[in-house]
Amino acid sequence: MTEDRYDIAVVGAGIHGAGVAQAAAGYRTLVIEKSAPGAGTSSRSSKLIHGGLRYLESGQLRLVRESLREREILLRIAPGLVRRVPFLIPVYQDSARPPWKIRLGLSVYAVLGGGQRGTRFRSLGRNAWNTLGGLRTDGLRAVFEYWDAQTDDAALTRAVLSSARDYGTEVIYPALFEDAVCEGDAYRIRYRAQGQVRTCVTTVLINAGGPWVNEIQERAQAPSLAIDLVQGTHIHLDRPVTDRVFYVESPRDRRPVFVMPWRGATLVGTTETVFRSDPESVLPLPQEIEYLEETLRHYFPRYPGKRMEAMAGLRVLPKQAASPQSRSRETVLLCDDPARPHLVAIYGGKLTAYRATAAKVLRILGPSLPPVAKRVRTDNIDLSASAID
Ligand SMILES: Cc1cc2nc3c(=O)[nH]c(=O)nc-3n(C[C@H](O)[C@H](O)[C@H](O)COP(=O)(O)OP(=O)(O)OC[C@H]3O[C@@H](n4cnc5c(N)ncnc54)[C@H](O)[C@@H]3O)c2cc1C
Repeated sequence: MTEDRYDIAVVGAGIHGAGVAQAAAGYRTLVIEKSAPGAGTSSRSSKLIHGGLRYLESGQLRLVRESLREREILLRIAPGLVRRVPFLIPVYQDSARPPWKIRLGLSVYAVLGGGQRGTRFRSLGRNAWNTLGGLRTDGLRAVFEYWDAQTDDAALTRAVLSSARDYGTEVIYPALFEDAVCEGDAYRIRYRAQGQVRTCVTTVLINAGGPWVNEIQERAQAPSLAIDLVQGTHIHLDRPVTDRVFYVESPRDRRPVFVMPWRGATLVGTTETVFRSDPESVLPLPQEIEYLEETLRHYFPRYPGKRMEAMAGLRVLPKQAASPQSRSRETVLLCDDPARPHLVAIYGGKLTAYRATAAKVLRILGPSLPPVAKRVRTDNIDLSASAID
């Protein structure tokens, strides 16, 4: 019996696995996913397509510039999935940052975003403060408005994967990656699907396992990076606040929290709790839910909504002594052989930058793969045209 042979096999159908498969159009590509597309972190994010205003404070200018560029591309190629929304930052007497600092940050953000429409910001006059969904106004010094974007993360992931399929990618789920053995210039992999163990051979193996990244490295007998998994929880409430995103600070520890419109109601998040267990078992903690509800009630004391559900996802961050909040959000690509890689593992990263990350992966793979007649330009593929199953 002949064995299936691929140029690229991707483990994980989150946004990164889907993105790499789409960028790999022209190659014989397989994606295996143990659960369902987008079932991991890529359905539990804050659903923001943004540069990350707060990353400016930790000097991550390159990441912010790249993400802002990606935001504009996604607004263009996925208009049904990514929409521009106004963000409001209320600044109070006791806020961690004074108005001048927010103004400075927003000015830099606008410049990095290219300065065109959609990057501008303004300060709302006092007469507008009473129209902000019941926002607490005592001690309020200023309210800034700027623009970023929002998406449905799971739907975006499915759309990118569907586009990859349109270009010939084979997607199998549920299919659990069991292990892989390096055989010189290829990997022989084993995965379990429909109760059977199947094998195939691939020139390149992509580990897009999100929080399971090191477990997959181990199963492929490959070295891994020291990481922390940091849990982030959101609560979903049954009534809207307004149609804008509020960027507020927790009154408890001044961490940033978003109060966002979501499916006609409200999403509030997120938290940062170091997680030391099996990623499969991640669940919102009672103290995280209390922290988010306390923040919501602090800023919107008359908000009448009730919590419907809570969900938690896991960030992959480099292991460091610094607090999770100030650690780098850059994606790290770990290769078995930097000159001619046959295994690339994707650590961390952002939903927003998935396309840029996928392009970097394909560039790194250049020496390991045969040339393709014509590379697709993923910044020109209309994602709203891809059927979302
Ligand atoms: C709380 C939180 C909020 C965030 N908010 C934002 C935001 O607003 N904007 C933004 O840009 N980014 C945000 N991020 C970051 C972003 O969500 C992640 O970087 C991104 O979703 C990670 O995608 P991924 O494909 O790497 O991982 P995942 O989506 O977790 O995908 C990994 C997949 O691998 C599969 N898998 C694992 N092991 C195996 C195996 N053995 N066999 C087969 N399949 C396997 C899993 O089932 C899973 O589907 C946030 C992250 C968190 C945690």
